[in-house]
Amino acid sequence: MGNIILTGDRPTGPLHIGHYVGSLKNRVKLQNEGNYDEMYVFLADAQALTDNFDNPKKVKDNVLEVALDYLACGLDPEKVNIFIQSEVPELTELTFYYMNLVTISRLHRNPTVKEEIKLRGFEESIPAGFFTYPVSQTADITAFKANIVPVGDDQLPMLEQAREIVRKFNSIYGDTLVEPDALLPENENARRLVGIDGSSKMSKSLGNCIYLKDSEEEVKKKVFSMYTDPNHIRVEDPGKVEGNVVFTYLDVFCKKDSFKKYLPEYKSLDELKDHYRRGGLGDMKIKRFLNDVIEDELTPIRKRREELAKSPEKVYEILRKGTIKAGQKAKETLKEVKRAMMLNYFE
Ligand code: ATP
Ligand code: MG
Repeated sequence: MGNIILTGDRPTGPLHIGHYVGSLKNRVKLQNEGNYDEMYVFLADAQALTDNFDNPKKVKDNVLEVALDYLACGLDPEKVNIFIQSEVPELTELTFYYMNLVTISRLHRNPTVKEEIKLRGFEESIPAGFFTYPVSQTADITAFKANIVPVGDDQLPMLEQAREIVRKFNSIYGDTLVEPDALLPENENARRLVGIDGSSKMSKSLGNCIYLKDSEEEVKKKVFSMYTDPNHIRVEDPGKVEGNVVFTYLDVFCKKDSFKKYLPEYKSLDELKDHYRRGGLGDMKIKRFLNDVIEDELTPIRKRREELAKSPEKVYEILRKGTIKAGQKAKETLKEVKRAMMLNYFE
């Protein structure tokens, strides 16, 4: 069997640099390496509604925003089916059948969902749709028989849940579904990029993000407001690198030629870190460098995005075509699933 790659994003806001290094960059790399049979990337609008059901406009508007981010980052609709989740109703039907294969207590144990419930203040009354979204995510993955899912590490519990459902399904109804594997970025800091506040994961819901669509001025403002080492007050003071967001981001974004281009008096990040630890290196200097390094990555994305944003109708056309193709595949899988479950009365 060949590789089938799939991932999605919740259209709850435009994408940020955490998405970029956590998953999007890997998707573009996989796309360009071409070692796959099918590749799908989708806008999880139905999932986004599970905790934004009272704000449909937010979800709708962000479908376009996220699609623009995809294309600006280099996803190529000739190679990848980009589709809208709610427009593939087979996914909802699969979810309903998979619900039988999980228990409430198993869903309660999912650490990512637990964290998200707390964050959203849902402890007292969790919307059932939100609570069960890992099951719908299993439907999204298995409908396409995806085996590779490029994600950040907050998604590992979802992948584990999906594998369990697949195993249970196959053992009861016969070999039908494929067990998926997560593909994490190599760089550990990129697997769950911390927000600019330094306290938790960069997340659309937390407002601690640098967005791919941020202007040069916005990025600069955010970089210069970043959390560093609170005890590094004067330039001469020794500084801490661990937990210092500027260094975390440099770890993720620095490229081989970054020093030559923007800070030639240092040869490597290790050298820069050593100097900071010893004292004598100011926060302004490292922030200026980080800003240059991030801009190196974001400037071309921003330019492409501005261009694409001028023709939203073209973007919707890409989504429409991708959705048709995705729907065909999901239909085939649903048919197999229903046959395995003996729900094929008229065949
Ligand atoms: P929300 O707050 O609405 O859940 P989010 O910022 O967590 O938004 P998602 O749409 O849930 O974004 O995640 C999309 C993909 O991006 C997933 O694969 C997820 O693992 C990855 N991702 C999200 N945030 C980060 C991050 N800070 N670092 C690395 N990867 C991330
Ligand atoms: Mg999330």
